[in-house]
Amino acid sequence: GTSAFKQQYSVEGQLGKGHFATVYLATERCTGMRYAVKKFEKRSGPGERSKVDGLQQEIAVLMSVSHPNMLCLKETFDETDGVYLVLELAPEGELFNYIVMKQKLTEAEARKVFIQLFQAVKYLHERNIVHRDIKPENILLLDRDLNVKLADFGLAKIIGEESFTTTLCGTPSYVAPEILEQGNRRRYTRAVDVWSLGVVLYICLCGFPPFSDELYSPENPYNLSQQIKMGRFDYPSPYWDSVGDPALDLIDRMLTVKVEDRISIDECLEHPWTTNGQAPLSVTDSTDGLTGALAGLDFSRRKPVRERTMLSAINDVKVERVIETKPDHPDRSAPPVKVWDKNRGPHFNNVNIAGQQTVQQANG
Ligand code: ATP
Repeated sequence: GTSAFKQQYSVEGQLGKGHFATVYLATERCTGMRYAVKKFEKRSGPGERSKVDGLQQEIAVLMSVSHPNMLCLKETFDETDGVYLVLELAPEGELFNYIVMKQKLTEAEARKVFIQLFQAVKYLHERNIVHRDIKPENILLLDRDLNVKLADFGLAKIIGEESFTTTLCGTPSYVAPEILEQGNRRRYTRAVDVWSLGVVLYICLCGFPPFSDELYSPENPYNLSQQIKMGRFDYPSPYWDSVGDPALDLIDRMLTVKVEDRISIDECLEHPWTTNGQAPLSVTDSTDGLTGALAGLDFSRRKPVRERTMLSAINDVKVERVIETKPDHPDRSAPPVKVWDKNRGPHFNNVNIAGQQTVQQANG
């Protein structure tokens, strides 16, 4: 029979493929407008039920939200061969590919992206929606000026104030530690999105992930999930040398294992790294020369960020020595050689990001 979808749209090619759906570029015949069409195949099989459940949830979430930094759903078609979601097109594709191309973002670029993401997630959290699957692949670029949209609400959940869920979901590298705690029906809520955003921010600023099985070594005998549960990560030199302390402070607060102590999305928006001195200041009676951009920031009475990180990161685990990785690495010129693999997440060749380097310094 005739398909209402195919009458209205012509499909031009594939934009991407996920676990549950294939995304095509399509043009609306009567307007010439281009859209992304996400098609869920209708096939009977063992996985069908969860697929349909997830789809209904995604549609419900997409229909209930409207924010400039969230992908907009235009309409849906339920046809014999599949369900079609007609979505706003993000012409420049995934932030993931942009990071791969650029190796990493500058702080200014990352700030531009994260102000938008913080606002989008704040909007969701205010509506009791937790995205639960934030990662660079789900952050889409509208243009080359780094205007972004949050996508893929397949795992998003509308939560009640008192509700909690322990479903294991999300991509391993980006999931919050409380999700990995097994046999523990702890509630986990909005804070999981802040954690995932913290992982993405870390990756954006250096080009490699904070937690990875690639970091496994005799001196760091922890796998990905153990590293996450301990909050064990570092800012290895030389890759982080040029990144300012406010960025590290924000990442520390986002990648805080204890949910109650983790920064909220509102606090992320107000953090000095995010505002970068742009927020209106009530009092500026400081007499030193840095009153402008740095007013409101006072790191002088705090422990150095990296030391604080190492201490807080290890949590309950006994620490024998705090490893300082800040001193200049002799091989400043060598960038990490990254291999991005969508199925495994970002990983690297021939560069030992933390292990080797920190061990040398610890032994030296
Ligand atoms: P997952 O496996 O992460 O659950 P999924 O099956 O839900 O994925 P999406 O992540 O929504 O599918 O889409 C798959 C890919 O299609 C995206 O990673 C992206 O590359 C591309 N894509 C999705 N939506 C759009 C869009 N609106 N504009 C451009 N590209 C898109």
